[in-house]
Amino acid sequence: GREWHLVARPHGWPKAEDFALRETPVAGPGEGRVLVRNLHFSVDPYMRGRMNDVKSYTPPFKLDHPMEGGAVGEVIASNADGFAVGDHVLHGLGWREYAEVPAKYATKVDAALAPLSAYLGVLGMTGLTAYAGLFDVASFKEGDAVFVSGAAGAVGSQVGQMAKLKGASRVIGSAGSDEKVKLLVEEYGFDAAFNYKNGPVGQQLKEAAPDGIDVYFDNVGGDHLEAAISSLNVFGRATICGMIAQYNNTEPTPGPRNLALVIGKRLRLQGMLVNDHTALQPDFVREVAGWIASGELKYNETVVEGIENGYDAFLGLLRGENTGKMIVSLTQ
Ligand code: NDP
Repeated sequence: GREWHLVARPHGWPKAEDFALRETPVAGPGEGRVLVRNLHFSVDPYMRGRMNDVKSYTPPFKLDHPMEGGAVGEVIASNADGFAVGDHVLHGLGWREYAEVPAKYATKVDAALAPLSAYLGVLGMTGLTAYAGLFDVASFKEGDAVFVSGAAGAVGSQVGQMAKLKGASRVIGSAGSDEKVKLLVEEYGFDAAFNYKNGPVGQQLKEAAPDGIDVYFDNVGGDHLEAAISSLNVFGRATICGMIAQYNNTEPTPGPRNLALVIGKRLRLQGMLVNDHTALQPDFVREVAGWIASGELKYNETVVEGIENGYDAFLGLLRGENTGKMIVSLTQ
C-alpha cells in the first residue's frame, strides 16, 4: 500500500520535497490488531506542528515514517475480539492506504447513521472541539454575543451555528473570501461576517459588533486576537483553540499589543486541547446528531480524491482552499 512519509522538516511553508508517497508491503494483522483499508483520512492544521522537531503536546512525526492522523476505513482482516471483516472503524493511522491498527485504538462507527467522513469532522474531532470549546471552555451562556475566526472552517462553522442554536444574541464570523462570508450569513445563519483580507480586523469587527462581544473563539491568533481583546465586553471569555496565522512562521510572533485590557475588563483567555474533553462525547454526539437530522446544523466538507493528492490537500487547508472539513478520500 502507499503511504505518505515526512522526509524533511519544513522551514516555514511546507514544500512538496518535504514529503514522499512511498509503497510498503501490507502485512498482518498481528495479535490483537485489525487490518484496515482506509476510506477517508483527515488533514488538520495541528499536523503542521508535528512536522517540527520540538517538544509539544503531541510528539513530532518521525522522518521517513508514515505520518499519522484521523482516518476511517473498513476492516479487511481481524485478529482481535469484537472486530469482524466489514466493520467500519475510526482510528489514528491516516495518511496511508492500509493501516494495521491495535484494536484498542480503533472505534467502531456506524455507516448507516452518518456518512463515514462525518466521523472525522462534524461528528468527530473538529465537531467536539467546537462543542467543548464553546460550552465548556468559554462557558457560553444564552444572550452572549460570539465572535469566531476561521468561521468557514471545520471547527469555526460549527461554533457559530451551535452558539445560535443555544441562544446567542449575535454571532459574528470572519473568513478569508467573500464566498465564505456569504455562506456564513446565508447558509449558516450568522448575524454578520467579514472577509479579514478586505481591511483591518479590528475595524471590521467593531462595525460587525457595535455593542461588543462576550465570547471570542480563536482559531487564528495574531491581529484577530488583538481585535477580539479590544471588542470583548467586561468579564468576556476567549477560547484559545488555534493560531493558524502563525503555524508557518519562522520567527516568534509579537503578542497582542493591547493585552493590558485583560485587566480592566477582567477577561479570561483559556487555552484548550480537545482530548481533555472526551467526557462530553456522549452529549456531543446526541445533541449534534439531532441537530443534523433536524436540519438545524449544517456542515460542509471539501473532499480531495486520491492518496496521491494528500500533500496538496494539506497545503490547501493551510491556504484556505477548504470550506468546512478538509478530507482526503480513497474510495475511487
Ligand atoms: P479549518 O477547517 O478551519 O481550516 C483551516 C482554515 O484556516 C483555512 O480554511 C483558512 O480559511 C484559515 N486560515 C489559514 N491561514 C489563515 C490566516 N493566516 N489567517 C486567518 N485564517 C487562516 O481547520 P480546523 O477547523 O480543523 O481548525 C481550526 C483551528 O482550530 C486551527 O487553528 C486548529 O489548529 C485548531 N484546532 C485546535 C484543536 C485543539 O484541541 N486545540 C483541535 C482542532 C483544531 P480562510 O479562507 O478563512 O483563511
